[in-house]
Order: sequence, then structure tokens, then C-alpha cells
Amino acid sequence: MFDVDRYLSVLRSEKLKRAVNIQNEIIQSSRDFLRQQGFVEILPVIISPITDPLTDYRIRGEIECYGFTYQITKSMIFHKQISLHSLARIFSFSPNIRIEPSERQESGKHLVEFVQLDLEVRDASREDVVKLGEELLIFVLEHIKADCREDLEFFKRDLKIPKAPFPSLSHEEALQAFGKDYEAPLSRRLEEPLWLLDFPMDEREFYDREYPDRAGILKDMDLIYPEGYGEALSGGEREFEPEKIKKRIELKGIDLRSYDIYLKFAEKGLFPSAGFGIGVERLTRYICGLERIEETRLFAKLPGILGL
Ligand code: AMP
Ligand code: MG
Repeated sequence: MFDVDRYLSVLRSEKLKRAVNIQNEIIQSSRDFLRQQGFVEILPVIISPITDPLTDYRIRGEIECYGFTYQITKSMIFHKQISLHSLARIFSFSPNIRIEPSERQESGKHLVEFVQLDLEVRDASREDVVKLGEELLIFVLEHIKADCREDLEFFKRDLKIPKAPFPSLSHEEALQAFGKDYEAPLSRRLEEPLWLLDFPMDEREFYDREYPDRAGILKDMDLIYPEGYGEALSGGEREFEPEKIKKRIELKGIDLRSYDIYLKFAEKGLFPSAGFGIGVERLTRYICGLERIEETRLFAKLPGILGL
């Protein structure tokens, strides 16, 4: 059950205060960086008739409102694409709810409720957003290193600033070197962040764009943190042609009717675009050098455990 005394001692701890202070600086500096780059911040969407399918999540978060069924946001991917009708470069600090399997409680990197800094750029390529991701991360790390010296000393964290361009591996190369569960062993071996490129279609959702000349391979990417901190972000170019989107939805075995509204937007015309989402709590964990993700925020909710 819920242990209020234990909760209070965590809330009052120096460790949590310092992690949250660093988190504030992450939010502030990434906002500064993106606005300098011409991005506009949009407010997050919490409920909608459509959300990211994330087909490996067995349970869907739904609420009934006025007789309509709304999904609780797993990610704002479709809203990001549709936003590009209004603005060419957008971002949002987007709360996501994902009912992760309870086994992920011990992973150190999964929460049920987390925030991603989610962005999308009209007419951009994967290469454009890879470069943007590198610049964003370097900007934030430099800012924290300069302005949060005392907090970093508290965490005994010697933060290294990586140099762009970051190295990269294809998904296929990672598989060959480390096998199916490549993320942890690969990340442990890294001393700087690394891009993983070109995921196969069955590993990703239907909205990442397939190479026009490489069947089944997507123009997408993950960024992997060094020192065992694992996945930092996921993103890529997006599928925008309605026929291709329909084909991809069907290939996933998803009923087209559940994406009816999205498909209507696709038929009216979506823009070619690329973007990514970077987890704020995971970035905080990496910067502070923390063992566990629940140490990075107030009201952390771990899979399978009652949180506040
Ligand atoms: P995804 O689109 O699933 O790759 O999510 C985007 C980013 O959000 C990931 O790269 C992580 O940084 C972060 N993220 C995803 N799931 C979780 C989770 N359950 N808890 C905390 N952060 C997460
Ligand atoms: Mg991912």
C-alpha cells in the first residue's frame, strides 16, 4: 500500500531537489534552444480519439466523455503531423501515459506517466532532425555543465560534452554485434551518444517512413546514451501519403476504422516531415547519473506500483 512517511522522506531529500533543479534547467535550456531555432511551443494534448498505437502495449487507456471514447495520449505523433498545417516547426512538453508491463518496474528507465519533449519539422529529412538532435543535446549539456556545477558535484557527475556528428550504427549492425536485446550491452560499451539508424518495419509503428528504394527498412533513428543509460529518443521521417499509410496500418493488423479520423486528414494532405521525442526524465537521469528513473521527478509512477 501507499507509505506516506517514505514518500515524504523522498520528497524532502536533497537528491530529489537537486535532480528537479537540473530538470528545470533542461526544460528551460531546451525551450531556449528550440525557440532560437524558430520553433513554436504548442500545448500538450491529453485525450483524443486517436493516439499512437504502440501495439506492444496491451492495455489502452480510455475515458468516456459525452458518449465519445477518448484515448489517453501515448504520444502526440498524429497531432504533431497535423499541427504542421498551422506552423512549420513545433514542439511540446507532452505528458504520455503508457501502461507498461509490470516487469519493467525494475528497468530503471520506465515510468507509467512521463514527459517527452516532442518535436516535428515540416519538409525535413531524417538527416535534418539528427543534426538538430545533436545540437539540442550539446546545447543542454553545455548549459547544465556551466550553470549547475554544484548539483553535478553533489551527484559526483563528470558530464562529458559530446562532439557532433555523433557516431552511428545501423539497426542491422547492432543486431549482429549484440543480438536481439542490443540496447543495454551497446549502451554500456559507449562513451558518447550514438545513433541507431534504419529500423526494420516490424520493429516500429506504422508512421515511420519506408525508404523509397529499400523495402521494409525505415528512415528513422534512436539515440542511445552512453554508460548504460540506454535509449534517449526515437524519431524519423514520417509516412504522409494516404495509400502508404493505409497499407502500413493494415500490415500491423490494425482495423483501419480505428484511424478513420487520421486517414481523413491524410487524404486532405499531410506534409512530408521528420521529428523526434526525447524523454525528459531519462535525460535527467542521464545528466545526474542516477540509477533509477523514479529519482528524477515528483510523483513518479512505476509500472505495477501505486503512485501519487
Ligand atoms: P518512443 O516514441 O516510445 O520511443 O518514446 C520517446 C521517448 O520517450 C523514448 O526515447 C524515451 O526517452 C521516452 N520514453 C518512452 N517510454 C518511456 C517510459 N515508459 N518511461 C519514461 N520514458 C519513456
Ligand atoms: Mg523508442
